[in-house]
Amino acid sequence: YVAKRDRRGFDVWAPDGTPASRDRLETLEQLRTALDTDQLDVHYQPKLDLRSGRVIGVEALVRWNHPERGLLYPDVFLPLAEQAGLMRRLALRVLERSLRDLQRWRASGHHLSVAVNLSVSNLQDVALPDQVEMLLDAFEVPLAALILEITEDVLMADAARSQQVMAGLRRLGVRLSIDDYGTGYSSLSYLRALPVDELKLDRSFVSNLTTDERAAAIVRSTLQLSLDLGMSMVVEGVEDAATLAALRAWGCDHAQGYYIARPMPAEQFLTWLAEQPAFLPLGRIPVQRGV
Ligand code: C2E
Ligand code: MG
Ligand code: MG
Ligand code: MG
Repeated sequence: YVAKRDRRGFDVWAPDGTPASRDRLETLEQLRTALDTDQLDVHYQPKLDLRSGRVIGVEALVRWNHPERGLLYPDVFLPLAEQAGLMRRLALRVLERSLRDLQRWRASGHHLSVAVNLSVSNLQDVALPDQVEMLLDAFEVPLAALILEITEDVLMADAARSQQVMAGLRRLGVRLSIDDYGTGYSSLSYLRALPVDELKLDRSFVSNLTTDERAAAIVRSTLQLSLDLGMSMVVEGVEDAATLAALRAWGCDHAQGYYIARPMPAEQFLTWLAEQPAFLPLGRIPVQRGV
């Protein structure tokens, strides 16, 4: 391997062991600048309570307003950030932005929660709980209004350490959610052992819910499982009315997806929210066109 060591001491190479390309190094340098100069932004996607039809919270999704390449999505830069050891800074930036927006929304009477995604390396970072606590103190939002989403592969990296970090976060009083549930190397044993409040079923089970009886069976039994474990369940990737209606009929708690709304910038979210009736007549939720 011809690994390059950059000026901050990180080894940078492509996953296949080839030396980092010029492009990657350039993007990496730009990502550092982005973190230093606040080019990272957070978009929010509403989460709907299927009993009341109310918007109960949002998921925070990181975006990069790149000066030349325009709006970049996480799949373009998260792997690079992870590899370069930038995930702590990124997570803290997203948390800070989300809590600041949440505080503002709550001050204007919207009792919402915010869900923030954490990465594998965030869950290996034993300093994270203290840092989250400092941010929560600074923004004075109720602890339970913050949900932290982790994927199942986090638990495979170093189970002992990630469980320690999760326990530290849980002690603060924030809620934990398992994201993309059902797609990882999932083991039912961690559901028994881990202090988790919510299952977030992956959208792959939802995309053909109304035509695929096997997918429907998986959704229904996962719902039952979450109920029996005292967890709530969110279904992500809801793209049409029929899916939303089925989920509601089966007693699913919360739904998220393009049919309800696409992720949008903070300013746009408040406008969107103001246009929603307090109790949406479910089944007639206006489709949000692309943002
Ligand atoms: P995720 O946490 O599972 O987030 C859901 C993704 O699905 C988002 O993509 C969202 O825009 C998209 N989505 C929502 N509704 C629908 C739908 O109805 N249909 C379809 N096809 N897609 C839908 P996005 O924003 O590109 O994020 C991708 C992933 O990047 C996220 O998946 C999450 O794993 C990661 N990510 C995003 N923001 C952060 C962050 O701040 N930190 C970390 N560590 N990861 C993040
Ligand atoms: Mg998520
Ligand atoms: Mg997900
Ligand atoms: Mg995902």
